[in-house]
Amino acid sequence: MTLCCLNGVIGPLDEARISPMDRGFLFGDGVYEVLAHVDGVTRARQLHRARLAQSLARIQLESAVSIDAIFADVDRLLAASALTSAKIYLQVTRGAASERDHRFPSQITPTIFVMATAWSPTVLGPQAMIIAPDIRWQWNAIKSTSLLANVLIQQQASEAGAVDALLHRDGWLTEASTSNAFVFQDGALLTPPLSDRLLPGITRHLVLELARKHGLTVLETEISIDQLPQADLVMITSSTRGLVPITRLLPDQTIGRGEVPAVFETLQADYQRVLHAHP
Ligand code: PMP
Repeated sequence: MTLCCLNGVIGPLDEARISPMDRGFLFGDGVYEVLAHVDGVTRARQLHRARLAQSLARIQLESAVSIDAIFADVDRLLAASALTSAKIYLQVTRGAASERDHRFPSQITPTIFVMATAWSPTVLGPQAMIIAPDIRWQWNAIKSTSLLANVLIQQQASEAGAVDALLHRDGWLTEASTSNAFVFQDGALLTPPLSDRLLPGITRHLVLELARKHGLTVLETEISIDQLPQADLVMITSSTRGLVPITRLLPDQTIGRGEVPAVFETLQADYQRVLHAHP
């Protein structure tokens, strides 16, 4: 039985109830995090805490919420679930109000939901992607629960047989619909710079740290989607998928020679090791 923690109360997921007036339900007025818990360790917890704090601040909800209390819920839920490896989803919305009104209610009681599902990391081999216009809003650094554009893009990618879509604005790579995007090119690792065009991924942060330690040239720079087929490799990253090599662009393009270079394997192996020890 999957357990969840809703507003501090632990119980079966299928018995948890929220109000239809919840602003998360009505407006997508909320933010979330997804964490990987592996062999008893919640990976990169401090970085996830910091990003949640940033998302809450950007939507003016930080003063109504205690991050310590949310992570105490996470720990209680993991203990109650007796899961040593799990995917943790947590979401904070601006709560329910008596009327459907776009403006913030004067009294706010956020809805705090944490779910832990049995899960273990799998290492994905070379994958294919599609390229699609980035139809999302302008503030993608906020980990917002308003994910309709991401849902439509991911569905399109899935129907095309792709693992995800590489997104672009005016021909410039932003990220993928559920991951950050990188390019290996002539011994350097390239990724678009942090801005509101993309989520500041925890995995992105760790990969850049590792790559620099390895002496790889790291360039946070704009990347034209036209240059993707000439790259040695494209890579996408996320907390749940880890580092995924991309060797094909559907329908019919190959990236570089269609092979995964040794530098990727080294980075991936190091990532597994470092991440497990990350606070
Ligand atoms: N970008 C988007 C749009 C995402 O949804 C995710 C995954 N949550 C990422 C990037 C990767 O972020 P992280 O490495 O923190 O999982």
